[in-house]
Amino acid sequence: MKSKYLFAAALILTVTFASLNASAAEVNLYSARQAFLMTPLLDAFTQKTGIKVNMVYLKKGMQERLKAEGANSPADLVLTSDIGNLHNLVKAGLLQATQSPALEKNIPSQFRHPQGLWFGLTTRARVIFAHKDRVKPGEVTTYEDLAKPHMKGRVCTRSGKHMYNVSLLAWMIASRGETAAEAWARGLKANLARKPQGNDRAQIKAVYQGECDVAPGNTYYMGKMQTNEKSPVQKKWSAAVNLIFPNQNGRGTHVNISGAGLTKSAKNKAAALKLIEFLSSDAAQKIYAEGNFEYPVKAGVKLHPLVAAWGKFKPDTTDLAKVSEHRAQATRMMDRVRFNTMDGS
Ligand code: FE
Repeated sequence: MKSKYLFAAALILTVTFASLNASAAEVNLYSARQAFLMTPLLDAFTQKTGIKVNMVYLKKGMQERLKAEGANSPADLVLTSDIGNLHNLVKAGLLQATQSPALEKNIPSQFRHPQGLWFGLTTRARVIFAHKDRVKPGEVTTYEDLAKPHMKGRVCTRSGKHMYNVSLLAWMIASRGETAAEAWARGLKANLARKPQGNDRAQIKAVYQGECDVAPGNTYYMGKMQTNEKSPVQKKWSAAVNLIFPNQNGRGTHVNISGAGLTKSAKNKAAALKLIEFLSSDAAQKIYAEGNFEYPVKAGVKLHPLVAAWGKFKPDTTDLAKVSEHRAQATRMMDRVRFNTMDGS
């Protein structure tokens, strides 16, 4: 009787410890990156470490949600794309700094926050897509060319207030100063074939259809179009354009990131940091970058063959943390030049 009682007590204790362990070894992730991309990586992480990842996909509204939840937020870690989103989370005080020798080793310094508030995990270049026949070789080799008189009426772009274009302009301000950046923004606007509208892919479609000859866009869209079985017409759009890496004889092409950061409210900090470290490792980097036709942030990791086929390029190496300090200025500049209108002012 007594031993039976002891056995039951031991069993209860074991079960209790097991469940305590299980709850300790978890990470709650808010991800703006889609499940198709993250699931294979998160499964591999769990298999390797025993740490369970609970991912919530948030297409929009991550910042609002974290703010509303405050210190009670279950989120330990966020994953999002574009330096703009990471910068906004920092500005809102929603991330916390962390140190990690592995992350410092794996991620070049221009792609991580100097105090460890965020870490870039994949990169993408904002390039120029140019019609194969209507744009002659050498006609457009720099971002500056897009704003020159010979491109009048030949440029398409999405909204000047979209994060990708604000990042590009912030980078222009960081690298060339406010006056030159504003002259560029005005010149670019003066060359637009139509009012800014649609997403990056819609610009390439417009080039294909003859509405314009060139458009800035992010590299991964090329891969997504080239392989699009759901919407095969996009293969035609992508086949109509060359992918040009701008400013190769100068400072290099503007590169942006997708990245991660620990939330201020993180309760599973050690496990969350392990997940960021895992995502920066060779094995994960390959899967992560390939899944969305991006570039690995870690040097030496093999590229997807399609991505490799676009050619090697020289990236600009300005710290993205420094670039992001010019975001508010860039947004005001877009307003000042009335970028999204076609009023000629
Ligand atoms: Fe995108």
